[in-house]
Parts: sequence; structure tokens; C-alpha cells
Amino acid sequence: MLQIDPLKRPPNAELELAGSKSITNRALLIAALAEGKSTLSRALFAEDTLAMINCLQAFGIDIKHDHTTATIAINGSGGELETPQKELWVRQSGTTARFILPLSALVKAPIEVDGDNQIRSRPQHDLLLALNKLGVEIAHNGEMGHLPLTIDGSNLTVTDIDVSGETSSQYLSALLLVGPCLPEKITLTLDGNAVSTPYIQMTIEIMKAFGAQIDSSKPNSYTVHPTGYVGRDYEIETDASTASYFFAAAAAGKGRVVVNGIGSNSIQGDLEFVEILQQMGAQTLIRPNSVEVTGPTRLDGIDVSMKNISDTAPTLASIAPFASSPVRVTDIGFIQHKESDRVTAVVTELQKLGIDASIEDDGFLIKPGVPTRGIVHSYDDHRIAMAFTVLGLLSEGVAIDEPNCVAKTCPEFFEYVDTLRLEGDEQLDILAIDGPAGSGKSSLAKLLAERLRLEYLDTGAMYRSVAAEALSANVDPKDLHAVAEIANKTDISFEGQQVFVNGNDLTEMIRSAEVNAVVSHVAANPGVRAVLRRAQRSWARQRGGGVLEGRDIGSVVFPRAKLKVYVTATPEERARRRSLESGRSIEEILAEIQGRDEIDSSRADSPLAVSANAIIVDTTGKSLDEVAEEVLRSFNG
Ligand code: C5P
Repeated sequence: MLQIDPLKRPPNAELELAGSKSITNRALLIAALAEGKSTLSRALFAEDTLAMINCLQAFGIDIKHDHTTATIAINGSGGELETPQKELWVRQSGTTARFILPLSALVKAPIEVDGDNQIRSRPQHDLLLALNKLGVEIAHNGEMGHLPLTIDGSNLTVTDIDVSGETSSQYLSALLLVGPCLPEKITLTLDGNAVSTPYIQMTIEIMKAFGAQIDSSKPNSYTVHPTGYVGRDYEIETDASTASYFFAAAAAGKGRVVVNGIGSNSIQGDLEFVEILQQMGAQTLIRPNSVEVTGPTRLDGIDVSMKNISDTAPTLASIAPFASSPVRVTDIGFIQHKESDRVTAVVTELQKLGIDASIEDDGFLIKPGVPTRGIVHSYDDHRIAMAFTVLGLLSEGVAIDEPNCVAKTCPEFFEYVDTLRLEGDEQLDILAIDGPAGSGKSSLAKLLAERLRLEYLDTGAMYRSVAAEALSANVDPKDLHAVAEIANKTDISFEGQQVFVNGNDLTEMIRSAEVNAVVSHVAANPGVRAVLRRAQRSWARQRGGGVLEGRDIGSVVFPRAKLKVYVTATPEERARRRSLESGRSIEEILAEIQGRDEIDSSRADSPLAVSANAIIVDTTGKSLDEVAEEVLRSFNG
């Protein structure tokens, strides 16, 4: 569960958010089919894009991805795909499920496609019907019209077909994407009252960028020529759906948010959400490469169709209670087939928080109100979790029961949310103390906390606690995924000098030689750091401040702390002090702390370093009192 700390001040932030999921997954598939190499920059790394990458790799595509630089290099197949040796697993990804089906039909062999329970319950019927018309054989291994299924394109024949767009535009997009690699030109006609049509335009734009020829001059008719694709370097826009939460927070929070990497030439329909905010009274500025939203003092209600941008309907629902008149959203009945039944989900959760919200024929109606405290159920749906986080920023006492589902499209979501709080952090009484192992930080931090009547947090004990849990679960401390999972499940609490981990007193255990030997590896894990950073920030924000001690408090956790101190001493002096405390030999301790310092200073995520504006205090040869006086003078000054 994640308690959302409300914003203390209106947000004022400029954000660099992750790349678009929809564009990343389309570009990945196109690059896999293309002749030659492609490099995607500013790509999204999330559950949904990893699902696509893994499925494409099963077709023999050579894909190298580098999370730290957000790039993906793809060696295109020129349309010559290998037959996957095992079933394709699409996880929970809707785009991967839909796009991979026509791609599988290009291979003349039966291919099994399956995924998590959530995707099994989402409809594929209209796409399967269209594939059937092309001679593709489909065997259902579960419910009709759903995954799991086996698809066999051995008898694929190109013919012009109708494709229904009533449930999802992804069906047409999926067929368009493979069009250039079919032996002949194909005309696809969009049938029915189609939803989310901007996504079709997005598909076409990306296809054209990779050399495809599409004739879409007649309404609802798309002729794709058999040109194949040509590999290229391609830059991905910031995700407009992810950006919607931050625009909403600015609009309803009377603040200002700028999102970079998306702008007037965007190919993402969800940017239209900004126009809705504008109609509600927000000031908006769409520049070539950034979008700025400033919230009004009074947000108006609205009556709006969100047929084209339904992914942002939960976002609008999350700020609707704060508008001065009702918000009615129409034409979104089809979103019951998304990761959750989204209309029911938002209305149910708003009602739980005491808001007058109701389901209507084809959407919902939300009346103004002040949300009460409560725990929001996320339905394992990233958009519900993210939307209600925005609501939690603007009211008191809201928690999200399963926050980790944001990893589907935006693993860093809560980090981004924290950027909105930076201004508010300036108002807190925070003393950040960092420094290498054994520099005397703990004794100093405890003394200062006492003198300043603030509470004290030993963040090193938190990393140690996760390390201890990993050891007792027999998990390799260097296994990034497994240890991050452990961090997620580790509940750490402090009572005086004692440390309780998942209810057990581990005060001694976390200082043991076994933990000393692995803690720096555990602390170098970005997944672990994200979880603990969140807990540390929340701890201080709930208390209005505190003395926090660690390695990255001034540089990363609270860059706007009231005072930052970097405590240091020579390695020999540090080892001598630890030896006096523990009775172990100076040589042994020197080797241990130097080893830890080396890992702590060289890791990619939040390395130990003197942060900007920190005062440096060398404690060599000084008494604790002398050092404390030196720091207090700066804190009070
Ligand atoms: O402070 P202490 O020595 O107990 O910290 C144990 C380890 O936890 C450090 O060596 C470091 O790897 C990690 N740590 C960290 N960031 C913090 C606090 C501790 O990486 N803020």
C-alpha cells in the first residue's frame, strides 16, 4: 500500500517524463520488420515494452536495449522472421497482444500466443475475425475470441477486408503495421463507430517514417503498398497519457507544470487532454517541444466526449471533484474492456471517498466534493493507480492499495510525482547528513536531532534491512529483480534503538558481517533505491522535517533540504573508531569500509558524492560536540 502525501504547495515543476508506450511498441515492431538497423531513442522501458521486445526476440530479431540511455538498437529482419520455438508471452500488454497476432500470421507455422490473466480477459474477437478473412487459421485454447490461442498463417492470402473499430482501434493498427510486408497491396476498411481513431493516425505516421506507403485519402479506407520498411534512427516522444496526470495536478492544484519532449507536432491524440483542461479554465501553452499547463484559481466543470482519448478519462475523473461544477464524460462505454472496467472502477473508488459519482449510459458523472480519507483499489490497472495518485496529491489521507501496477507503462511514476513536491520540501525542517562508512554520521545525526528536537532517520539501516531480508530468503544480493521485489515487501519500523523488519527485531542482524558484506550491492539496485527513497521522503514529509542520515540524502532524496552536511574523516580514522566500538581489527575494518565506499561511490544510481551547497565537515581529530556546534551554527544561521 502507498500512502500519498498531499502537496504542501501548488506544484511548480519542469518534467522529463518517460517515452510513449504506444510509439515505442509500434516502432519496435516496425524496426523488427525493416531492412537494416534502427535505433530508437527516448524509448520507454516498462512492462509493456519489454513484453514486445521479448516477443520480437522470439522471432529471431536481434534487439539490444540500454535502460540507462533509453535506447533500443534493432537489427531488422527485412520481413524474414524465424518461427518462435515456444509460445509468445505478452504479459499484460494490449498493444503487444494485438500487434503480435498479425505479425505471427506472416510466419507459415502454428504459433501459440498467451499472457497474464488480465490480457486473457480482454477481447480479440474483431481482430481474429479480420485475420480469418485473410485465410489465417486460429485455434482457441481458452475462451472464444480471447487468448490463449494458436495462430497459423500458412494459408494467408491477401484480400481487401473490413475491420471493426468499435472496441479498439488497435485491431486496425495491428493489421496496418504488417501491411508493407505482405506480398501484395491491401486495402483495409474501418467499419462501425470507431473509437480512439487518433491512434490509427499515429500508426500511419510511424509507418511512413520507416518508408511505408499508405493511401488514406478516402475516409475510413487505408491502402498499404508492399514496400517493406527501411530501418532508421527514430526519436520517441514523451508519453502524452503519462503527462496527463501531471497536467491534471497543475490544473486542479493551482500550480504550473511543464512537460518536455512533446509539443505542437505530436502524433499522440492524448495531448488533446490539455484542451479539456483549457476549457475548464487552465492556461495552456503548446510549444514545439514542450507543453505547459497552469491551473486557474477556480476550475470549471465540463461535459465532454472522450471517445478519442479515453485513456485520460480516469485522469479527468481524478480532478473532477475539485471542479466548481459537475464533470460529465461521454462516449467511453468501451473502456470497460481495458485493464479494468474503468468506468465502474473510477466511479466505485470515488464513491468510496465520499464523492457523488455515478455511472451513466456511456460514461460517468462526477459532482464537486471534498474527498474523504480512504484506500483506493487499483484493480491492477496502472491508469487507475496513477489517476488516484493525483487525487491523493490534492486531498488528505488517500492511499493506493497496489501501487506497483504503474510499472506496466511508467515504472518511474512515483519518482516523477515526487518532483511536484520539491517546492514544498523547501518549507520542511530537513537536515541532510551524508558521508562515507564510519565517518561518524550516526552519532552526529542523533545528537543534532536531540538538540533540534527533530526525529532522526538512519537510512543505512533501511538498506541493511533489505539486505538482511534478501539473505534470509536465500536470494542472490545481485539479483536486481528479486531483491527489488523483496524491498517492496519489506516493512521497516524503528522503536528507539531497535529496528523491526516485517515485525521481527533485526537490530543486531543488520549490523552483522554477512550484511556488511552485501549491503552495498543491495544499495546499488535502482529498484531498491526507488522504494526506500519513497519511504524516506514520506517519513520526513509526514513529520514536517527531520534529521536524515545516509549517502544520498542531500543529493537525491531532499535536494532542497534546509541544510546539507557532508561528514568525512580519513579512512584510517574511520576504521580506528569502528575498531574501538566493535573490538575488530583496524585492518579488517579498513578493508571493509573501503570496499563499501568504492561500490557506494561508483554506482550509477545516486552515488555517494558531496552534493551541491553541502557544507563539508571533516571530523578527524574533532570531538562530537565540536562538530555538532559547527553544524548547528549553519542550520540556525
Ligand atoms: O550508513 P550505513 O553504513 O549503515 O549504510 C549501509 C550501506 O547502505 C552503505 O554502505 C550504502 O551502501 C547504503 N546506503 C545508501 N544510501 C543511503 C544510506 C545507506 O546507499 N542513503
